Amino acid sequence: MDRLIRCLAYGGKVSVTLISSSELVEKARVTHDLTPTTTAALGRLLTIGELIGAGLKNDKESFTIQVKGDGPIGNCVCVVNYGLKIKGYVQNPLVELPLKENGKIDVGGAVGRNGFINVIKDMGMKEPYVGVTPIVTGEIAEDFVRFFAESEQQPSVVSLGVLVDKDGVKSSGGYLVTLMPDADEDVISRLEENLNKVPPISSMLEKNASLEEIAEIVTGDSNIFVLEGEDVPKFVCDCNRERFERGLISLGKEELKNVLKTDNKIETVCNFCGKKYVFNKDDIEKLMM
Ligand SMILES: [Zn+2]
Repeated sequence: MDRLIRCLAYGGKVSVTLISSSELVEKARVTHDLTPTTTAALGRLLTIGELIGAGLKNDKESFTIQVKGDGPIGNCVCVVNYGLKIKGYVQNPLVELPLKENGKIDVGGAVGRNGFINVIKDMGMKEPYVGVTPIVTGEIAEDFVRFFAESEQQPSVVSLGVLVDKDGVKSSGGYLVTLMPDADEDVISRLEENLNKVPPISSMLEKNASLEEIAEIVTGDSNIFVLEGEDVPKFVCDCNRERFERGLISLGKEELKNVLKTDNKIETVCNFCGKKYVFNKDDIEKLMM
């Protein structure tokens, strides 16, 4: 089962959030019929989305994260709601690129550069908070390190890994290491030295290491303190018919009348889960009242 834990290392000077996301990324792959390349790209985005979403305080808050470079995959989007419920999609799910020379999936090539990361935090108030930074490599992890540094003034380390082939997701996970304001040079250099020799998270998870063990390996601190009470991360869509009704109403009566001249129904599809909502003539006429 997928898990997310938050813990503190070096007596609270370093915070680490870790996730194993194999099941939710596999669900995204099946839902959108993704290729290995687009599974890796969306999988990394969903994994960082959950790591960021772990900071949500209540069910009125949500994050919408968009990565849009100039590569063939197009727009990549995820929305994470309170309780680690995440949904997401990529614009062109069928993109498949050859492996890079080092044998890794070419996520950077699929996402491209010359673009932006947008993070919109909706706190249930009128004006959502928006953070924007340019894409660095399109490999997702590096791009979010820059996002945290520039938009949040928060030095961090991000590692995201998705092991996938044509048969499905073998393992997926990630971690976000954040330095607390009281992290001193000694802690920082010990952490840096340690991070240089840490194996990829996807291979640690594939060997069935627990998140607690990985937290110790990543930080180099064998006395980590695990914070209690995290939800189970899940790939799940919260769409419903009413939401699409509101969308149709917002088109205006004239537009709806025009549609009824040529068609006797409107079919809408949820980008996030592929669910179809069909509105027949009677339904549409009711919306116009
Ligand atoms: Zn949906």
